[in-house]
Amino acid sequence: MPHANAQPDLAGKVAVVTGGASGIGRAIAVLLAECGCRVFVGDFDPLEENRSPSEQLGIVDQRCDVRNEADVRSLIERAVAEGGGLDIVVNNAGIGMVKPIVDVTEEEWSACLDTNLKGAFLAAKHAIPALIARGGGSIVNIASNAGILPRAHDPVYSTSKGALIALTKCLALCHGPDRIRVNAVCPGPVGDTRMMNADLDQAPDREAAVKQFIKASPLARAQGRMISPAEVAQSVLYLVGDAAQMVTGTLIAIDGGKSLGVPPVVAEDA
Ligand code: NAD
Repeated sequence: MPHANAQPDLAGKVAVVTGGASGIGRAIAVLLAECGCRVFVGDFDPLEENRSPSEQLGIVDQRCDVRNEADVRSLIERAVAEGGGLDIVVNNAGIGMVKPIVDVTEEEWSACLDTNLKGAFLAAKHAIPALIARGGGSIVNIASNAGILPRAHDPVYSTSKGALIALTKCLALCHGPDRIRVNAVCPGPVGDTRMMNADLDQAPDREAAVKQFIKASPLARAQGRMISPAEVAQSVLYLVGDAAQMVTGTLIAIDGGKSLGVPPVVAEDA
């Protein structure tokens, strides 16, 4: 009987992970590679510090802007050519947009929607024929708790993630007959990522901002910490593995209960 902590064996599988240079995407790429998967990372801002660990794990890092169809097609074609096929796509590349709607420029709207939504469309468009050629596969979209329960302070980001969840369900319905499973993971608040650090760097009081993020999530608050990229990566590992063979169109919220509703008032707030 396998050990309770045994990881799924992904030997022989080939995965594409977008936005895999840092944060959640990096944790996903490393975990999939550690489980034997051949991983191709596409990121428009690769980090030099990844070079040596990537080489050791056989991770291929390619510069790719997910807003650009030629870049996405080239990433998928490389994975198919060098990996011998494609089994897994993780659409993780994303950017935040914290602004009231009246201050959002047309360029900012496009940047957010094109990265968080169009990127996943382009990857699905070019990956699905390759997944069908393998007899099926798995797509995981990294959405957000903001896509489940929209927020007042980042309406464009919330919209992009809500639409990504809709795309997830549509593709799951359309491609079930092809044995392609499409699911979404909805994290938040996750520490130790470039997006989170950029948010915190803008805050007038960093420590207070960290406390505010933690306070908004019941389990993060109870445990006195943010969620880790590795915890999000574990949910992706489950979704791409054989244990999830009958799972499609679902959302896994790794948000400590943040998207469930209004949390209870605790004594220190009363
Ligand atoms: P991160 O900034 O560390 O990672 C995002 C990665 O995407 C970066 O490496 C960045 O270079 C890359 N990227 C951005 N735009 C790109 C583009 N156009 N083409 C290719 N790569 C691009 O931040 P993260 O927190 O790890 O975010 C990963 C995903 O998780 C995002 O989709 C984000 O919306 C989502 N998410 C994060 C949190 C959180 O609290 N950190 C919560 C919910 C959802």
